[in-house]
Amino acid sequence: MVGVSGVFERLVGQEPVVDVLRAAAAAARDVAASSGTVADLSGSAMTHAWLFTGPPGSGRSIAARALAAALQCEDPAEPGCGRCRACTTVLAGTHADVRAIAPDGLSIAVKRMREVVADASRRPSVGKWQVVLIEDADRLTEQAGNALLKMVEEPPDQTIVLLCAPTVDPEDISVTLKSRCRHVPLVTPSATSIAEVLQRDGIDAERAEWAAGVSGGHVGRAKRLATDPHAQAQRKQALSVARAAMSDGVYGTVEQLLRDAEAAAKELNAGLNERETEELRTALGAGGTGRGTAGAMRGSAGQLKDLEKRQKARGTRAVRDTLDRALIDLAALLRDALVQSTGAAVTLMHPDEAEQTRKLAAYATPEGLLTCVEAVLECREAIDLNVKPVVALDAMAAGVSTALRTQRR
Ligand SMILES: [Zn+2]
Repeated sequence: MVGVSGVFERLVGQEPVVDVLRAAAAAARDVAASSGTVADLSGSAMTHAWLFTGPPGSGRSIAARALAAALQCEDPAEPGCGRCRACTTVLAGTHADVRAIAPDGLSIAVKRMREVVADASRRPSVGKWQVVLIEDADRLTEQAGNALLKMVEEPPDQTIVLLCAPTVDPEDISVTLKSRCRHVPLVTPSATSIAEVLQRDGIDAERAEWAAGVSGGHVGRAKRLATDPHAQAQRKQALSVARAAMSDGVYGTVEQLLRDAEAAAKELNAGLNERETEELRTALGAGGTGRGTAGAMRGSAGQLKDLEKRQKARGTRAVRDTLDRALIDLAALLRDALVQSTGAAVTLMHPDEAEQTRKLAAYATPEGLLTCVEAVLECREAIDLNVKPVVALDAMAAGVSTALRTQRR
């Protein structure tokens, strides 16, 4: 990766974006060096509010975090050196003046946003700027978005806001908020550039190319597929739904998919939940024997209940995210079959499943396969709209198997 170094190295296949961010970091360094404020950034390559968009896995949150690190970097020669204490703590998520906000459940609430706005309006404690990083700005509630907008419109002297969202669609980000930000669009990185990064991380060439090829341009996904047997097994399970739909086992297969997603979410969150609860109990003085402990415990029951609620919402979201990934894989597999049945010369998204997709293409008509793709996409949408996953998945299973059965070649 010639010409790219330090914190920006993690951005895959986004050279134009890297150029923009490096220039921004250099401009911010100059302003900070002369004790300037956000007002002094006007007309420079830096600005106080940014919006990073791009498909999942393209690296929008990596880009935002890299810029955050470069803003706090202690190396004047190369802002974003990746080696200094500021860079490493920002990347690790422990820098005192970088506040990253991720939704706990399905959304970012106004209460949380107001706390962040209040904290971020103070002067930086160790760094050069106060940075607020919102990885899922599309999950801001309307009120939370308004609280944030106010800060962006009347920026405190040293506060920089970095937002990430899938697109600039008003569904993802309010038009006003977007209009106040500098927009940086990321693209889907090529399989070749993803494979390069995996190899740089020590994964052998064959595995890296396979994972990059089936990841749909999602860098994190490619990494997981290359290194995590659970991720590989989950993918296999998702892709087996189409095969099962040609025989009788489709309901069992989708329900297994759901059970696996639930188990994975539970495992992912178990340690975190336990730690949070423990920390809260300690903070609330649980286990103390002094006077006043009983009273404190009565008041703390509500806080523990709140935490439990947030943890439950986080679990729900993890299940949905895992299912969404599985459904994307399945839709891509059916699309591969459709492409093969029409003879179009397009790269397959699951080249290692070519035998299954050939069978599907020989089994059903292109119309039937298209109906199948639609059934899977409808299922994604239904889950996104809060339909119970088991209901949405069963409906999809019915849709796919009916389409395959009734639209035979
Ligand atoms: Zn640095």
